[in-house]
Amino acid sequence: MKDIIVEKLIRDETKRQETTLDLIPSENIVSRDVLRALGSVFTNKYAEGYPGARYYGGNKCVDELENLCRARALELFRLSPAHWSVNVQPYSGSPANLAVCLALACPPKPAECGKIPMPKIMGMRLDMGGHLTHGQPVSATGKFWSSVLYSVDEKTGLLDYEAIRRMAKKEKPRIVVAGFTAYPRIIDFKKFRAIADEVGAYLLVDMSHFAGLVAGGAYPSPFPYADVVTTTTHKSLRGPRGAMIFARRDSKIAARNAIDIARSIDRAVFPGLQGGPHMNQVAATAVALKEALNPSFKKYARQIVRNARALAAALKKSGWRVISGGTDTHLLLVDVAARGIGGKEASDRLEAQGIIVNKNTIPYDRRPPMDPSGIRLGTPALTSRGMKEKEMAIIARLIDDVLVRNKNVKGEVTTLCKKYKVR
Ligand SMILES: *Cc1c(COP(=O)(O)O)cnc(C)c1O
Repeated sequence: MKDIIVEKLIRDETKRQETTLDLIPSENIVSRDVLRALGSVFTNKYAEGYPGARYYGGNKCVDELENLCRARALELFRLSPAHWSVNVQPYSGSPANLAVCLALACPPKPAECGKIPMPKIMGMRLDMGGHLTHGQPVSATGKFWSSVLYSVDEKTGLLDYEAIRRMAKKEKPRIVVAGFTAYPRIIDFKKFRAIADEVGAYLLVDMSHFAGLVAGGAYPSPFPYADVVTTTTHKSLRGPRGAMIFARRDSKIAARNAIDIARSIDRAVFPGLQGGPHMNQVAATAVALKEALNPSFKKYARQIVRNARALAAALKKSGWRVISGGTDTHLLLVDVAARGIGGKEASDRLEAQGIIVNKNTIPYDRRPPMDPSGIRLGTPALTSRGMKEKEMAIIARLIDDVLVRNKNVKGEVTTLCKKYKVR
């Protein structure tokens, strides 16, 4: 590369990734093929519109590419094109969720404000494990829409479906959102469907975090129940940064509201929110979807969960409080404040030893979000490097060594990193 400054930064970041243990649950390591597609000449192409209906010329290859990507997305989640459509153009997870709000809960035009009630979004509170784009006050989804936010149960850390149902009946949301960023357990999508049906709301499942687990059969599929499913492509699914929106063609709620969800979502993505799709990103998503269709991905997905369980079990054994008592997924939340260490301090001290985690609030946290009570740990990236339960037990011990005994574990981190290469 001629730009030696950026070249050096790329080299430094490569080295950082190779020499540290990445336990951030939303991160992963993509294949060389995904990188190749992402760095391809598709980045040169403008393709506003959809296959067969573009606003620019020269679409032979992009049309074929986008159709291929859509077909693979449906195949991966075992969906028939007669019942589901998919949009692969969202730039990332946040604009994907915004597009769904725009499509299914379009706010009244200025002239109608005050005459027509503002449609309401109902999601989980950020500090309980929900995402910004599920109606948090600081997000566009909480500024332009009215929103109500539910919590998890204080004692168990689990979803309280009865409380969610009561809130839905009182608030009558247009969209109920399930699928979170820091919830370590299985979500009962059937119960969410029943709640949405009871109040005539759309059920949006945001499977960003656990999409790879659903693809690999290691987590229940939301597709039998949801009206719309959004997902990022770069977390457990191991693709490039990006997102997809799946829309049910035979949604009963949509039929009652006389809208075609698939068409509304396509129009909300483009021209509603976005201009030209990033076709290099679509190419890389297509590659990642093919990789996830390989039978070996099932093993990978199952190993992610096994690893997270092993990590949780080992940490519990050495006295750490794990929220909800463990995990069914790729992630776990550890209450470090219970042992007198702040989340920020824990994350900083681990990082100094080459163990990368993120500080995170725990449900009903009494500490501020910038220095919360917990750390969030996840296993997708380590599993991509080939690590198994045995290594998780070692890593749990290293975490304990750093946080409790203040030991220097850099040597052991290096040994693990050398044995389990990034690629
Ligand atoms: C990561 C995530 C998103 C947003 O994805 P970005 O690509 O960071 O915009 C949305 N929803 C959930 C549940 C997520 O975990």
